[in-house]
Amino acid sequence: MSAGDQSPNPQPDHARMHSVSDETRGIVDLVLEYSRRRILATDTPLDHASSPKELRRLAGPTISEEGLGSRRALSVFEHILAPACITTDHPQYLSFIPSAPSKAAIAFDLVVSASALYGGSWMEGAGAVYAENEVLAWLASEFGLPEGAGGVFVQGGTIGNLSALVAARDRARALRERAGLVSRPEGGWAVVCSAEAHSSIKSAARVMDVDVVPVLADDDGVLRAAAVREALEQRGDRVFAVVATGGSTNFGVVDDIAGIAALKHDFDFWLHIDGAYGLTAMLSPLGRPHFGGVERADSVIVDPHKWLFAPYDVCALVYRDPEHGRQAHTQHAEYLDVLTERAAYDPSDYSIQLTRRPRGLPLWFSLATYGAAAYREAVTHSIALARRIADEIERRPGLRLVRRPQLSVVVFERDGWERADYDRWSDRLLDEQRAFVVPSSHAGRPNTRFAIVNPLTAFEQLTEILDTME
Ligand SMILES: *Cc1c(COP(=O)(O)O)cnc(C)c1O
Repeated sequence: MSAGDQSPNPQPDHARMHSVSDETRGIVDLVLEYSRRRILATDTPLDHASSPKELRRLAGPTISEEGLGSRRALSVFEHILAPACITTDHPQYLSFIPSAPSKAAIAFDLVVSASALYGGSWMEGAGAVYAENEVLAWLASEFGLPEGAGGVFVQGGTIGNLSALVAARDRARALRERAGLVSRPEGGWAVVCSAEAHSSIKSAARVMDVDVVPVLADDDGVLRAAAVREALEQRGDRVFAVVATGGSTNFGVVDDIAGIAALKHDFDFWLHIDGAYGLTAMLSPLGRPHFGGVERADSVIVDPHKWLFAPYDVCALVYRDPEHGRQAHTQHAEYLDVLTERAAYDPSDYSIQLTRRPRGLPLWFSLATYGAAAYREAVTHSIALARRIADEIERRPGLRLVRRPQLSVVVFERDGWERADYDRWSDRLLDEQRAFVVPSSHAGRPNTRFAIVNPLTAFEQLTEILDTME
């Protein structure tokens, strides 16, 4: 036993890990104190990865028959493992899509764990499911979807996109069968999306064994209706879904959703909006104008762990008519009959998953605590900051915007820099713990980008990074 775990343990050994004892109380205090420190810290460094060899050298073996005791195990985490993880909620973390969970959302994540909530069925988790559904209904109404729209919180955008596309194909199959056709069209099913769509669409198509029809976006990165129309005319009834991106990950570019949705007049397809990063911008008057047509979508996703200030990992999957999701995803098994025979709302029926943590609850608590207006302001801040730093980049000799930002991703180049120059610069920024900004590329040319979602990211921090490129 380690220090702090010294009291005699009255419980038989088989129950040592579960019973409430002095040892247990010590562990809980230790972990909550650490969590409190981390949540309230304002100086958590960016940190950086280390090699397996270095981590082995520092941490030594941590799994043994006797255990290390909580104090040592936590100390290994705090001093060795955690510093080998990048601080994704650091204001100068500007790569990929950062994470910026609100303090209330982070704190409540502990409550979700502490409460042993099961979020798969109404029977077991009615209260949790009620709260999650209230958030999904609120999101649906922000997106202009009709009353009755709903769905489920899943692990991430990849699973959300896959679940939506499976539901789309299921509906297309059912329509064919009802029309007396074989369920699979000649040539096989296909999904139409932008050539700049997220890799998870291709991944979903691979899993589903369907073809992707990549359609070229215009030079500004926007997928427009004319090109989609052409693809639909060529592929005919092979196409079960069109995916429009509501804020591409690389550029934050929003496809012409209204134009694509209008094609529903002439073609029968399921319109899915991949808004994992960008759909959140609809909360802000600065972002909303880009998203006309979302109200006509059959399904949408948005990742609260990106720009809706929830901790990892959570995606809101919303169907216009959740019944399509339920038809496609309900699992049937003898031991589940007691659930599936009821008419209750069971979140597990709406995606590819059965057991689930009610992972929408941290967002629920944060929204309930601060109110929607606080979200609108925080999102507006990021868009305004992206515009301001884009102006600054245009003003500076030697720097060039690759595209004007629509949302909060700013992509730019430094004249004369090769990939190796960006690599050296990026490594130095992290070595000096100033910022995490990685190289990217577009059309074969290297560049770099600021992805801004953290309300604590400040204009001056960004200009200081630009200064290092001179
Ligand atoms: C991040 C992202 C995804 C994938 O979401 P995960 O949560 O990482 O699985 C899909 N589409 C877009 C547009 C994204 O930005």
